[in-house]
Amino acid sequence: MAAAHRKAYDYFTLARFSDWASGGQRLQPLALPAWDPEICIQCGKCAIVCPHATIRIKAYDENLAQNAPKTSKWMTAKGSEFQTGMAYTIQVAPEDCTGCGICVDVCLVKNKKQTQLKAINMVPQLPIREQERINYEFFLDPPEYDRRLVRLNSVKTSQLLQPLFEYAFI
Ligand code: SF4
Ligand code: SF4
Repeated sequence: MAAAHRKAYDYFTLARFSDWASGGQRLQPLALPAWDPEICIQCGKCAIVCPHATIRIKAYDENLAQNAPKTSKWMTAKGSEFQTGMAYTIQVAPEDCTGCGICVDVCLVKNKKQTQLKAINMVPQLPIREQERINYEFFLDPPEYDRRLVRLNSVKTSQLLQPLFEYAFI
């Protein structure tokens, strides 16, 4: 009971803080994560750490990727977990991402040509917001990976599960 009261108090405090900090407006983050499929090793860590499930991974038929919007990104799914001929996409929901950057912090892959960059990087939100909104809509189209086939004992494969609770506030 005490824990439940504490949770309610925390929520109330956060909500009041949010009102004060935003002036009552819904704010957009200044930056969004941008994925680099050229160097990604498909470890899945960026997706598992997102507190809001706003960065998602999908493996789907490569034929469907042929109809992707020009700015949508995909690579061939790598590893024995996947059937041959599958595309792999990491996509952010731009209207729900808070820009916290945790997904970037956790990525361990460095770009050898530009060592300040990783396989996912925060970039200014405004120039890519509309294209990412379109890309996210496309991302939702291909069927979700069959939950019965997902191996739950690794980060890489567990992130193929469609999140059933999304965009949690706390
Ligand atoms: S920046 Fe934060 S909210 Fe946005 S996708 Fe990354 S971890 Fe999730
Ligand atoms: S954490 Fe980095 S390397 Fe791993 S899946 Fe995400 S972008 Fe790719």
